[in-house]
Amino acid sequence: MNATNFIRQIIDKDIATNKHDGRVVTRFPPEPNGYLHIGHAKSICLNFGIAEDYGGTCNFRFDDTNPSKENIDYVNSIIDDVNWLGYARNEQTKHASDYFEQLYKFAVELILNGKAYVDSLTPDEIREYRGTLTEAGKNSPYRDRTVEDNLDLFTRMRNGEFPENAHVLRAKIDMASGNINMRDPVLYRIKHEAHPLTGTNWCIYPLYDFAHGLSDAIEGVTHSLCTMEFEDHRPLYDWIIDNVTAPYKPEQIEFSRLSLEYTVLSKRLLTKLVEDNLVSGWDDPRMPTISGLRNRGFTAASIHDFCNRIGITKNFNTVEMGVLENCLREDLDHKAPRALAVIDPLPVVIENFEEGRTDWMDAMNHPKRPELGTRKVPFTRNIFIERSDFLENPPKKFFRLSPGSEVRLRFAYLVTCTEVVKDGEGNIVELRCRYDPESRGGVSPDGRKVKGTIHWVSKDHACNARIKLYDRLFNIANPATRKTGDFADLINPDSLVEIENAVIEPEIGKATQGSRFQFERTGYFFLASAADEDKPPVFHRTVTLRDSWSKQK
Ligand code: ATP
Ligand code: MG
Repeated sequence: MNATNFIRQIIDKDIATNKHDGRVVTRFPPEPNGYLHIGHAKSICLNFGIAEDYGGTCNFRFDDTNPSKENIDYVNSIIDDVNWLGYARNEQTKHASDYFEQLYKFAVELILNGKAYVDSLTPDEIREYRGTLTEAGKNSPYRDRTVEDNLDLFTRMRNGEFPENAHVLRAKIDMASGNINMRDPVLYRIKHEAHPLTGTNWCIYPLYDFAHGLSDAIEGVTHSLCTMEFEDHRPLYDWIIDNVTAPYKPEQIEFSRLSLEYTVLSKRLLTKLVEDNLVSGWDDPRMPTISGLRNRGFTAASIHDFCNRIGITKNFNTVEMGVLENCLREDLDHKAPRALAVIDPLPVVIENFEEGRTDWMDAMNHPKRPELGTRKVPFTRNIFIERSDFLENPPKKFFRLSPGSEVRLRFAYLVTCTEVVKDGEGNIVELRCRYDPESRGGVSPDGRKVKGTIHWVSKDHACNARIKLYDRLFNIANPATRKTGDFADLINPDSLVEIENAVIEPEIGKATQGSRFQFERTGYFFLASAADEDKPPVFHRTVTLRDSWSKQK
């Protein structure tokens, strides 16, 4: 169940007072000019979640008014992402471009009512005339054109008689307004460009501010939920709707946008990361895009949980990355079966274990879910352990392996290190150990204390694997506030570490693409591409087991 918030409280009240005839219609209106990110997920979960809980509808609409920035790859990725989050699976998407003819008629209506005019200043002049936050703007010399002239020019704009920037259509509101959005905003501009859906039918395109509010009105949206930056645009949306015969007047409610530490959530900055090749693409597993998170191994459930937990308010705050990661850990802790994998293998020979012998050990698939059963894991004379689980000169309280010390090999036996083998340069290349035959299952036969338990994989049965260890993309918490515009020096150099020769237990090597595991002690992993004849499987580390960043701050 979704948590309540101030928007739901407003809707409750609206329903109680029959404000929109008791109807609830929301919408999610992306511009197809980039991939969706986790901030959009907040808006998706809010809008679709409200429609679901109130028995209403949520329109999935592309606000596709700017053909220069849009492409079909963006459109498809947006549909995939919304569907993956569990919404609008079998629905037709709507488009602001479906309403181009209707929007044009509204513009004509404004002209006829003396509420809009064709301006012929250049774009630079328009900017100059607009004034500043402290200074009023001034009227364009074309502001008083007659209705007939305006209608004639606007018709000819539509008919393609003028080059780009020759004219624009502007609302006639107030060049001295304290709200710059109300200083005769441009409503239509000439663009001799084909549109992905309407082709070359149009050579004038409505501006977002004109199309957006009216599209909501055309669709009979009751609650138009948007982020705080649109608060200053609300008077304009209301003005437009009040000055045409709009079929409906939606109620706009603003909430604060999601901002997340160690990443950026703006399409402009994400586009820059892609264009500067600082990531492999929009769906790079380090990107905060929904497709990036999916590739990384995030579950849709963890994103829902996150959106629910952060809540909806009007206050701006930046959410810690640990909050998102913890939602993921909680979900995966329950879902992911356990497995043994060694990421940085150090060979170990169990000297008193016979060559050629295999003991099949019983291993629990999930410590908290006995219903998931057990599996058999092969134990042999030659095994691998994690290089970091051995220290030649251990500090106090190091409970893993060191010369002469005893550890438990998970699910297998107690072993004691008897010898360290090094190469000519002093690098440790192998350990020699002896096992206690009485300790099968890792149980101490005489009650002697063995504190450390480490993971391992049989060398004879191991499956080779490639592993990509992902971590936070940026090495500072608020990269978007850096005004340098250059991200290269802010990228966390360890955000991607590629491991070629990890080893995993044999069964895991046969898992199918998309499987998720907890590799014991090292993290949650996602099988990004399954093994095939000559290629090892590739796993992505989705998240570590614990938050190792919180103490760095
Ligand atoms: P950006 O600023 O990243 O370019 P945008 O607002 O231009 O994003 P749209 O495609 O217009 O992107 O967004 C679709 C919807 O998602 C809008 O209603 C917008 O308010 C909402 N949205 C965008 N970013 C966030 C965010 N960080 N948190 C919550 N909602 C967001
Ligand atoms: Mg936008």
